[in-house]
Amino acid sequence: MTVTDFPTTASGVRSPIPDLPVPSPGERALAAARFQLTEASRFLGLDDGLHDMLATPRRSLTVSVPVRREDGRLEVVQGHRVQHNLSRGPAKGGIRFHPATDLAEVTALAMWMTWKCALVGIPYGGAKGGVAVDPATLTTRELERVTRRYVNEILPLIGPEKDIPAPDVGTDEQTMAWIMDTYSANAGYSVPGVVTGKPTALGGSLGRAGATSRGVQIAALRALARTDGARSPEGTAIAVQGFGKVGALAAQYLADAGCRVVAVSDAGGAVVRPSGLDVAALRAHAAETGSVHGYRDADPLSHDELLELDVDVLVPAALEGVITADNAPRVRARLVVEGANGPTTPEADLILAGNGVTVVPDILANAGGVIVSYLEWVQNTQAYSWSAGEVEVKLRDLMENAYRAVADLAAERDLTLRQAAHAIGVGRVAEAHRMRGLYP
Ligand code: NAD
Repeated sequence: MTVTDFPTTASGVRSPIPDLPVPSPGERALAAARFQLTEASRFLGLDDGLHDMLATPRRSLTVSVPVRREDGRLEVVQGHRVQHNLSRGPAKGGIRFHPATDLAEVTALAMWMTWKCALVGIPYGGAKGGVAVDPATLTTRELERVTRRYVNEILPLIGPEKDIPAPDVGTDEQTMAWIMDTYSANAGYSVPGVVTGKPTALGGSLGRAGATSRGVQIAALRALARTDGARSPEGTAIAVQGFGKVGALAAQYLADAGCRVVAVSDAGGAVVRPSGLDVAALRAHAAETGSVHGYRDADPLSHDELLELDVDVLVPAALEGVITADNAPRVRARLVVEGANGPTTPEADLILAGNGVTVVPDILANAGGVIVSYLEWVQNTQAYSWSAGEVEVKLRDLMENAYRAVADLAAERDLTLRQAAHAIGVGRVAEAHRMRGLYP
């Protein structure tokens, strides 16, 4: 047997021993999340019992979702909803539709949500959901049936005071509208506060659609100002991996602030233009064709090359585990601002830190989404609405306060920004546990 005969997983990892299962990307994400928790627990001096409690989710539900395809066939896909922690309030976290999602990935994402909500000071615990489907292969009616059936299966867990889903990879406003409708039909009355990221016509908040990207912009500009000798955005070269809900608007907002967005990618390909891309034109091209691939005013680039470009700032905004021990030594950006959850492995973190690359971690950099989700939920529960300007001021305040707290702790205790962010987030959750005590 040659090396090319070894079984390959969906993520392209080979096992040197054919019968030994290769960890899924989700299992690797969970190992990374647990590593970060253990590091924070040691820094905070948490006892082993509390660490173990925080390392395991409070509740996990795996469901089978039968779907009737347009041709009459019945297919069954798996879905999950994980509530990692409820000590500071109801659970909060997105729902992902992606073929490779599994329970381990959803658990890791739920854990990161817990620390994120605590870090930015909003009264939620962490949750996440996932359905192992590729939305690109489903018709709109099939997608609606998958969504409604999945929601029906996880119905006992969710609710405006229990667990509030939101969009994530492969889901959007329309998905949230179907969730709100399914939940409301079961309740017998409209319950807009059961999901966030809804269309504004159903009680969605102004500013939610671009909130994660706005937060990424705020974090990137703060980081540039603090870590690069008070550098201004003008002319700063940026590469963005992932051109979906988060990446496309992050690119737009950074370009609006004066940065030069030189390269972007999505699942269909990557494009580069050293003098700067016209992000609005690129967004129009992607909306029309489904990908940035084939955009005329730029050159094609490989997915790997994008991560290793000679830019000032790299914004990974696609999936987890993309900056690894393999490619981290070749990352030339001085600043990595994590729009995605978990894009950098712990091994890569060490290499980047050793090379003087500053990483603004996911639980800080992409917290804008959950911040405005919180504002949406507050508006729904009060049957009130704020203007776009009011929402943006509150978002900016919470993001900048969190950034300051993280950067100050990192400087004071000689930590990376990720270590400092986890120390604050985990510390606040641990404090809530200590104050509540253990029942019974
Ligand atoms: P999305 O489905 O809207 O977009 C994902 C993008 O990544 C798409 O453009 C897709 O083509 C691209 N992609 C997939 N594989 C790729 C690859 N190998 N190389 C380059 N691009 C690739 O999802 P999203 O909501 O933008 O989420 C992106 C990331 O941001 C995820 O990690 C998600 O958990 C995180 N996030 C999202 C939100 C939110 O509000 N949507 C909030 C916080 C964090």
